[in-house]
Amino acid sequence: MQLSTRLTNLNGGGSDGWEVFLRAREMIAAGDTVIELTIGEHDIRTDPSILAAMEASARGGHTGYATVPGIPALRDAVAARVQARTGVRTGRANVLITPGGQAALFMTHHATCPEGARALFIDPYYATYPGTIRGVGAVPVPVRTHAADGFRPRAADIDALADGAASLLINSPNNPTGAVYDRATLEGIATVCHDRDLWLISDEVYDTQVWQGDHLSPRALPGMARRTLVIGSMSKSHAMTGSRIGWIVGPAEVISHLSALATVTTYGVPGFVQDAALFALGSGLEDQIAAPFRRRRALAQDILARQNTVGLIPAEGAMYLMLDIRATGLDGRAFAFALLDAEKIAVMPGESFGQSAAGHIRVAMTVADDAFADALGRLCAFAEGLAAGQG
Ligand code: PLP
Repeated sequence: MQLSTRLTNLNGGGSDGWEVFLRAREMIAAGDTVIELTIGEHDIRTDPSILAAMEASARGGHTGYATVPGIPALRDAVAARVQARTGVRTGRANVLITPGGQAALFMTHHATCPEGARALFIDPYYATYPGTIRGVGAVPVPVRTHAADGFRPRAADIDALADGAASLLINSPNNPTGAVYDRATLEGIATVCHDRDLWLISDEVYDTQVWQGDHLSPRALPGMARRTLVIGSMSKSHAMTGSRIGWIVGPAEVISHLSALATVTTYGVPGFVQDAALFALGSGLEDQIAAPFRRRRALAQDILARQNTVGLIPAEGAMYLMLDIRATGLDGRAFAFALLDAEKIAVMPGESFGQSAAGHIRVAMTVADDAFADALGRLCAFAEGLAAGQG
């Protein structure tokens, strides 16, 4: 008897890039005080008003099986939100409620990639992307980007890899780079999708965290609604990471097939979580939840402007900073381990997110302002010391 390679190849056999994170967790368990700037988890919890809505729903009896594509009121609310933000006509039939963005990533690739097809994605990337693609029997193909371009993809680089590809996955605002794709970048992507007949999977889970420029959904570009599947989530916008709720927006026919996929996998999302999400979407909390990251990004810009060793990739959105530490002579992994040992500050090596981010580190802006500013100041001083030692 054998296990399916779809399962056994999930982690790709290489390092999963979480070594620094795991070492930090071990240090914390051993009693060390470590400033954790690793994962994308808010330093606040889900708002009490959302929890109250969840409790009221559960106590009111919404604890049985919920309708699989999602409760109609929530699908309508998501459709209205997407339509208001993008101008693209969107109705209930275009929306599937999913247990978070991660499930939506899996489902959209399952829907669009035949066995063995190439599935393109932009490097640097959110760490689960390659495994998700392997998990549906497709072949992950990273499209390299460059720090000098602010890690925005070039259409020609996507096109060069598109032979035999079924899909392209993009993520703006971007984790880990903080890039927000401008119109020209998205138009270039749309042209390749048209020319190469690709599905576009647009991961927009950070769409409420934009610090500079505007979030533009590629679904709004001419002719793109029929070939774009948008992934949304309540995790980042409403600090509901543990509630596991998100959505896919796309053509009604695709949503109908995906609803059948949901039936044979998750059988939907708990009704009381959906009711809480419905409340949250109407709560107006989004700006308040994004505000700390906006503040800390401004703090970081000030701190980084005072030195020349650590470079800041323009942080236009999302809850992370991508820092260029190549002047220290170390790669991202070595720098992250050295920083953890010397300063007890945990950050993610850029290499955890693909080869394009080598020589960089990702800093999550997920601790209180004072602690964040202090940690960033110490990180810069540490980098300056290393760079001087290079000298
Ligand atoms: N996409 C990106 C780019 C992410 O950073 C994350 C989580 O960190 C997800 C998707 C998955 O989010 P969730 O499954 O919590 O909605």
